Amino acid sequence: MSPDLDVVVVGAGPAGLSLAHRLAGTGLAVRVLEANDHVGGRMACFRHDGYTVDTGAEQVPTYGYEHTWRLLRELDVPLADVPTVRGMLAVWRDGRAHPGLAHPLGLLTGAGLSVRGRLDLLRLQARIARRARAFDPDRPEDTPLGMGTVADLAAHHHPDVGDFLLEPVVSGFFGWDPARSAAAPFVSLMRAAGPASTWRTYADGMDTLARRLAERVDVRTGVPVDEVVAGTDSALVHTGEGTLTARAAVLCVPAPVAARLYANAPADEREFLSASTFTPMLKVSCLLDRPLSPPSARPVYALLVPARERGRDGVLSGIIVDHVKNPARVPPGRGLLTLLAAPSAMPDLLTAPDDEVVRAMTADAEPFVPGLAAATVANFVHRFPHGLPEATPAALRSRRGFLARASRPVDYAGDWIMARPSSEGAIRAAATTAARVTHLCATRKEPV
Ligand SMILES: Cc1cc2nc3c(=O)[nH]c(=O)nc-3n(C[C@H](O)[C@H](O)[C@H](O)COP(=O)(O)OP(=O)(O)OC[C@H]3O[C@@H](n4cnc5c(N)ncnc54)[C@H](O)[C@@H]3O)c2cc1C
Repeated sequence: MSPDLDVVVVGAGPAGLSLAHRLAGTGLAVRVLEANDHVGGRMACFRHDGYTVDTGAEQVPTYGYEHTWRLLRELDVPLADVPTVRGMLAVWRDGRAHPGLAHPLGLLTGAGLSVRGRLDLLRLQARIARRARAFDPDRPEDTPLGMGTVADLAAHHHPDVGDFLLEPVVSGFFGWDPARSAAAPFVSLMRAAGPASTWRTYADGMDTLARRLAERVDVRTGVPVDEVVAGTDSALVHTGEGTLTARAAVLCVPAPVAARLYANAPADEREFLSASTFTPMLKVSCLLDRPLSPPSARPVYALLVPARERGRDGVLSGIIVDHVKNPARVPPGRGLLTLLAAPSAMPDLLTAPDDEVVRAMTADAEPFVPGLAAATVANFVHRFPHGLPEATPAALRSRRGFLARASRPVDYAGDWIMARPSSEGAIRAAATTAARVTHLCATRKEPV
């Protein structure tokens, strides 16, 4: 009996949608099943009273995102629809914001680093530049940094480099614990992404790419997949609405979700699946009646709060100033801030009621943005139990074996396969998986 479809894709995030687009382009019959009532996954948006709220991902660098930009060109998304982020990245130190992080200007102004810290950072950058080709984000296990963690890297440098650069960036943007995550994926990603002044964001919200892809592929939202089972030359996909058969099923969900849905994964896949842990992320959106920002000598679009500055009970690791990032995110004269939760606060916050989360996070943010409580018209909490791939040394060690596995009826795509905490990692992984699945389907005779 011929299967219902060539390929069932589980998950309508950047990986699932770009994979479906690639596969459908080769003439395969593809369907995407998405548990949520909307597409985008961790790169989604919602609209409320004229505000455009990025619930997960925030920005797309101009550089180092080759697969993303290729896809955007294919979809005829003009560069003008992905404008450069306005304002600077800043770090909080000694009672004020220091703009210029990840910016050439930062080496002059300090961006929160002392002179000795800056000199040490320059030495580190020169060392990385000398071996630039070895920092390939596609091969994070092969860099000169080996399996060392972010904390190991920091330990070899002036304390400022760890305390006011590495820790705030990896904790704020990825929810990483510097002692657990490998330094190589981070250094490779930042080197490829270039200065923060070249980073961009979608004018119409971070779900732009997902919405454009979803217009071109068969996506069913509100259909959670319960289980995926591999047969000899087909896959079964069980949902509450029934079972679909396909030549291949591709799990485009975070690794811990994939491991749960596909309980009989072969042994040579299980090691990397279980090593591919995720950090949780939590954000609180503050919709404001005026465009409040952290006071700073230059406009900032993101302020990172280092662990050293937040104290033992602090719950805030950063603030995104969305109306500076892109003024079209808010109605004229209004403001929008996104508060990022600190990794240390995550276990409690993830399960706390929304009003408690909002109270704790906004109370911590008030000193950085005086007047925040008075200007807030609404708050929304966004929780991601699987926020970003943790990219631990264990994940890097087992990645090569996973990549070498044979093509099978159940496959995977997602940022975790690249050990890269970014949407480019998801889209890059989908391109590789598309080639594997196309080959697998071509070796089967009967068309659907
Ligand atoms: C807070 C935060 C900030 C980020 N910032 C950035 C950034 O600035 N720039 C950047 O490039 N990246 C950023 N990222 C990372 C980026 O969002 C992810 O790398 C990307 O979304 C991963 O895509 P994916 O398709 O692999 O997974 P996801 O986006 O997680 O998509 C998986 C999809 O599968 C669905 N799903 C799960 N279980 C099931 C099931 N049982 N049945 C059916 N569907 C299911 C989910 O609902 C989801 O839609 C950020 C992530 C977070 C959480």
